[in-house]
Amino acid sequence: MANQYVCTVCGYNMVGYHPDRCPFCGAPQERFITAEECSARFTVMSTRVNDYVTRLNSVPALGFEHAAYRIKTTDGEIWVDCPSCYDRRLEAVKYITFTHHHFLGASNRYREHFGAQVRIHQDDSSHRICKGFTFDRTFDKDAVEDGVESYHVDGHTPGFTFYVFKETLFICDYVFYNLGSMRFNPFGPAAATRDGGKRINEIIGSRKIEDVCGVHYVAKYKDWKPLFDKLLAT
Ligand SMILES: [Zn+2]
Ligand SMILES: [Zn+2]
Repeated sequence: MANQYVCTVCGYNMVGYHPDRCPFCGAPQERFITAEECSARFTVMSTRVNDYVTRLNSVPALGFEHAAYRIKTTDGEIWVDCPSCYDRRLEAVKYITFTHHHFLGASNRYREHFGAQVRIHQDDSSHRICKGFTFDRTFDKDAVEDGVESYHVDGHTPGFTFYVFKETLFICDYVFYNLGSMRFNPFGPAAATRDGGKRINEIIGSRKIEDVCGVHYVAKYKDWKPLFDKLLAT
């Protein structure tokens, strides 16, 4: 198996190379550990969100790793995004689909171990940060599969995609939500991010949604949506 290193500052996995600095956050090599060491020091904790969604996080916290989410569908388990730590004790996953290319985690290892397909929007598939990762499918259209709806919005990244399953919204880091306030993710083109926010609102506005699964939070939609509306109005 190719050498693989994990940046302890951000959780980014470097697959098959060992650079001087983390390509994602710029941390120096001293802050890297091998993927094997990462699996020995960290585990992936599952936290229930609702009857069919579980949040997946590395413990102890692995830098500023985001949350990934597991959806139980009638046709198997699907992950939206992927933990940075590889923990083979997790239940088998059918496919891993990304919101965008920022948090590819240890998806290559889960792909190998479970024979899981890995998917990302075409417009996020060839960024330099994807080096070493394999995507079995790159998509370029909105779709519904196993009840999981995917919607491409652009904005924060060119291929940014959000998901809806039943009454749960998976929005990752499109907006930052903290202590009752919200703002668009500033790491990306501001105007396009705002336009994407409008598109998100067009799609979710008429939907019945209960839970919002975000980058570092799970929120009730009734608390989250008024702040999103306010953000779009300003
Ligand atoms: Zn890093
Ligand atoms: Zn991001």
